Amino acid sequence: MRDYELLIPGPASVDDAVLEALAQPVPAHYGTGWLTVYNDVVAGLEQVFQTQDDLFTLPSSGSGALDACIGSLLAPGQRMLVGDNGFFGARLAEIARAYRVEAITVKAPPGHPLDPDAVAARLANTPDVTAVGLVHHETSTGVSNPVGEIAQVAHDHDTPIVVDAVSSMGGMSVPVDDWGIDLCVTVANKCLGSITGVAPTSVSERAWTMIDQNPHEPGWYANLKIWRRYAQEWAKWHPYPVTMPGNVLLALQASVHHILEEGLAARFGRHADVARRTREGLRALGFEMFVDDEWASPVTTAVCVPDGVSFSALSHYLRDEHGLMISGGIQELAGKIFRVGHMGRAAHLDVVERFLAAVEAFVDDV
Ligand SMILES: *Cc1c(COP(=O)(O)O)cnc(C)c1O
Repeated sequence: MRDYELLIPGPASVDDAVLEALAQPVPAHYGTGWLTVYNDVVAGLEQVFQTQDDLFTLPSSGSGALDACIGSLLAPGQRMLVGDNGFFGARLAEIARAYRVEAITVKAPPGHPLDPDAVAARLANTPDVTAVGLVHHETSTGVSNPVGEIAQVAHDHDTPIVVDAVSSMGGMSVPVDDWGIDLCVTVANKCLGSITGVAPTSVSERAWTMIDQNPHEPGWYANLKIWRRYAQEWAKWHPYPVTMPGNVLLALQASVHHILEEGLAARFGRHADVARRTREGLRALGFEMFVDDEWASPVTTAVCVPDGVSFSALSHYLRDEHGLMISGGIQELAGKIFRVGHMGRAAHLDVVERFLAAVEAFVDDV
């Protein structure tokens, strides 16, 4: 298969060091030697999450871990307030409804961030809201939502908050403890720069209190209490209920080490620089950005497809002539925007310059 450079917003191309870590012999997923690796990965992830909360590496996709969080926290018939300004916000509401939780959505139009005042107003006039949920970086449109402010609003109402940080963690600061995020989910790929396979998930004390009071059990695998029980009772040799994908964890260890060596602040600065350069370079070629600079994310740039240009012609040209993959809009934005991810290897200026030169060649041609 051809080795394309992925500039899509997930999955991301990763460093060779991560791939080499993945190609080690299969480790047993238990015992003291292995636990040194596992505990090191968890400790490193806690630094990236900026938290001292419990943290689990669920062998799952991001959506699977969000499903476990919502199902563990809420019972059927309870209410969850969900911020929805795009595809992944709508998915949070869909997960809640799958548990027969009443999802009350606070919306913002695609390309705009959620408004903390609107969340506050809705919480003030809706009784019995058990939890608030939202997406940090709405990957379908490249918008950063004001999680810190919305978490404050939720806590003013004594309500825990569930955050989908699947695409932001590792590329933007997500200070879980400072913001008071009760359940926070990400994945090993995207901005953590490793490969898919586990979904690191943190759980606060306040979340545990509510989970313990929840009269409903969300089955077995998606039940965070099961994960806590093994983390406690089998801490010395096998602190999880199922087989850990050992090689996936070895690869994640390599990328987490890399993140901590680079330093969080330097890394977030690099993502911001790369996004800025992408926007500036595309604007110089005549493109219009879909999202205002003020809330455009540093991990994905959404760009309007100009009149007279076909997205499929552009994306096929970039892929076939330059080996670069970008992605289009989802649902009502299909054909209207394209998205450039700044994740993993794509979050480096040399890749962005290659991309801009390729787009320039395309523009010169049409
Ligand atoms: C990628 C993504 C998801 C879905 O993750 P899966 O691993 O495919 O389940 C959820 N939310 C956001 C914001 C994402 O970017």
